[in-house]
Amino acid sequence: MNVLVLNCGSSSLKYQLIETDSEKVLAKGLCERIGIDGSAITHTPDGGDKVTEQKPMKDHTDAVKLVIDKLTDASVGVIKDLSEIDAVGHRVVHGGEKFATSVIIDDDVMKAIEECNDLAPLHNPANIIGINACREVMPGVPMVAVFDTAFHQTMPRKAYMYGLPYEYYEKYKVRRYGFHGTSHDYVSDRAAKILGKSRDDLKIIVCHLGNGASISAVKNGKSVDTSMGMTPLEGLIMGTRSGDIDPAIISFIADKEGLTADEVIDICNKKSGVYGLSDGVSSDFRDLTKATKDGNAKAEGALETYAYRVAKYIGSYIVAMGGVDVVAFTAGVGENDCAMRKAISEYLTFLGCSIDDEKNSIRGEEVIISKPGDKVTIMVVPTNEELAIARETVRLTK
Ligand code: ADP
Repeated sequence: MNVLVLNCGSSSLKYQLIETDSEKVLAKGLCERIGIDGSAITHTPDGGDKVTEQKPMKDHTDAVKLVIDKLTDASVGVIKDLSEIDAVGHRVVHGGEKFATSVIIDDDVMKAIEECNDLAPLHNPANIIGINACREVMPGVPMVAVFDTAFHQTMPRKAYMYGLPYEYYEKYKVRRYGFHGTSHDYVSDRAAKILGKSRDDLKIIVCHLGNGASISAVKNGKSVDTSMGMTPLEGLIMGTRSGDIDPAIISFIADKEGLTADEVIDICNKKSGVYGLSDGVSSDFRDLTKATKDGNAKAEGALETYAYRVAKYIGSYIVAMGGVDVVAFTAGVGENDCAMRKAISEYLTFLGCSIDDEKNSIRGEEVIISKPGDKVTIMVVPTNEELAIARETVRLTK
């Protein structure tokens, strides 16, 4: 089967066409600045060179049409025509409490996704626009919605409730949902398979450390806790997001700086995290590592604080699960930043595990970085959210 995987943002659209028997990526690309001057598509066929074309895209329907044009193009295309796309898998950020698994998209599902817009006003509307554009351009092609929140719907009440008046949960569904679910599901599943064990018998902690970062406790194959909350702002310190802070800081800073609460939240989302902690050096861990080597104490402090927060969460999830068998690192930082993996893992030495420096020097590959015989296995598992979405799409449409 050929599955088109789409991830729509408000002005962007990322795509991959995957042949799901071989799980080969036939082509991938990105439409940027949709609805804005200077829109462009970047398309890379498997084994071919990346091509970039500036082309006006007034909306997501134009973008989807352009993606189809590129996929079926005589020189850079990989299929003859639209009939070779068997199904489409859409990433949807927020499924609220309505979706605990992926679903085939129909009118009722679209309505239910729209009802979650309140919970993810920046993301869900864009996802919906992308789905509608696809349904217009490819009528009759089955489509599946895969939710970032679905995997975490197994969290027990004690993990998802905030210590707030109960009426806010009843009236507005204020609770913890968690995100990156597709990645936590995929990585915990791979981790068990790499060890030749069943996920149902393991306690796994997945550290998804990318630009956005979250950590999850996966006990016997089910997410029992995760660090992101009602929105992706809670939890770990991230590239530019603050993660957990005392909520009273919001009004304190608003008063001092003459800002609104929304403006302070915007700072928590876009100017904080390691970027803010390093006093603006960078949100990219490569830059922070270099700045630290050059003697920048604030960059060094940002990396230290980041590692400490991750380690604290690992500690709390060990307690939540009553133990741990595997800690798996994934996403940009988790897959590539050997020094950060080591810094975090050093907090775990008391558990009876240690890092093999040679193994830990490997980047971007599936590798066990703890030593043979250690009580806890520490490993790296590159995530692949597009493949996970394609697999879900096959599962529901085949
Ligand atoms: P996103 O959340 O946008 O999907 P990624 O998972 O791609 O993010 O992670 C991107 C981040 O990974 C970069 O901002 C950078 O901090 C980090 N990163 C990528 N490559 C390396 C590397 N070689 N060494 C250290 N950090 C890296």
